Amino acid sequence: MEESSTIEQVYRGTFVHSTPQTPLLILEDALLGVNTHGTIAFIGEGKHVKRLSQDFKFSLSDVKQMAQHEFFMPGMVDTHIHAPQYSYAGTALDLPLLQWLNKYTFPVEAHFADLKFAQQIYNQVVKRTLRNGTTTACYFATIHTDASLLLGQIANDLGQRALVGKVCMDRNDSAKTYKETSQESQEETLRFIKELLEKKYPRVSPVVTPRFALSCTEPLLGQLGAIAKNNNIHIQSHISETVDEVNVVKELFPDSKSYTDVYNKHNLLTDKTVMAHGCYLSDEELTLFRQTGASLAHCPNSNVSLCSGLLDVRNVLKHKVKIGLGTDVAGGYSASILDAARRALETSKVLTIQNPGYKTLTFEEVFRLATLGGSQALSLDKQTGNFEVGKDFDALRVNVAAPGGPIDLIKDEHPKVLLEKFLNLGDDRNIVEVFVAGKKVVPFTEKTQE
Ligand SMILES: [Zn+2]
Repeated sequence: MEESSTIEQVYRGTFVHSTPQTPLLILEDALLGVNTHGTIAFIGEGKHVKRLSQDFKFSLSDVKQMAQHEFFMPGMVDTHIHAPQYSYAGTALDLPLLQWLNKYTFPVEAHFADLKFAQQIYNQVVKRTLRNGTTTACYFATIHTDASLLLGQIANDLGQRALVGKVCMDRNDSAKTYKETSQESQEETLRFIKELLEKKYPRVSPVVTPRFALSCTEPLLGQLGAIAKNNNIHIQSHISETVDEVNVVKELFPDSKSYTDVYNKHNLLTDKTVMAHGCYLSDEELTLFRQTGASLAHCPNSNVSLCSGLLDVRNVLKHKVKIGLGTDVAGGYSASILDAARRALETSKVLTIQNPGYKTLTFEEVFRLATLGGSQALSLDKQTGNFEVGKDFDALRVNVAAPGGPIDLIKDEHPKVLLEKFLNLGDDRNIVEVFVAGKKVVPFTEKTQE
């Protein structure tokens, strides 16, 4: 056996994950091996431990046995989060989107020209999301290239898988100090991509980030589409979050058939595109999403907190559009995908109250959205999202009965009950270890503690 496939870690116990066919698979007394590259080398049954140890050349004494009330689940994916807005998360939720941006967001984001401030907030947000079990995050930064590069460095140093976007906006009449010229936006995007790629971080990549149609001119949208295409990189933006926003887009882009058409026209809908929200997309627009391979980030906390709308996830799934969950900090006040999962269920139940015939999402489906769905939405499902052999070991070790934690066990609950309790009641106290590509990133080491 080659050196490259040496087994480094073996765990025995309960594993829960999703596949494209099944929202929840529970593997009891399973055995999972991770090699020195951090990828999953095998997953088998505990009773075959002897044969597996011979086939994969590990010693039985290296097997780490998990407790009855523990399980491993895939790391969670935050498909949409604004790193700078973490600085006011939990506040400023009293205005609708367009006023909220002017009053709170733009003035705060303008401060990120200050690298010291950026360093503090970006360190806090990456650590907080890692502790909350977010192994992959798709970040908006600000218009500032150097601060955006710093966010990439911090994610890399703390071991989070991340897509990082320098925000582009050449149209902003409400905050004159927080916008770029079209030329600056284009040149700085190119510099950002070049300098981030030159760092050769293994799991941090750039993403082309027009803020949304309202804050970009058509020439800039066209340039950004071309940049993404020429460099074969990801794209992220916002779409159809509120009724007011959709109406302004109609005024600003009278030649476009729909909001989706504005992006599609400028080559911004690809199979590496993730668009946040989509509350008001028509069936025709969803079809365009499916045809182009673009995905949606469902951000239910934000959608309710800013009174934006209710996304009909069932209809998105019916159109076979890829979809994951996003916190949308700080429009969403929580930086936890567990919260996003709860709000996704809640939104689905509100839709059911409004229409009793509605097929409510199940907790198993929401679990898949938080993990595999998110990885699909970010086109990272070859690397992460579930416990398939060959993927990176991005995982959470969950102890449902963690001492001092929020969950009481009543009797010997089945793993499915343990997972449901964790999804509804759990928090970071239950997430005892977090792994990204086989490397333990939580608890923090002395080096990452500072
Ligand atoms: Zn957002």
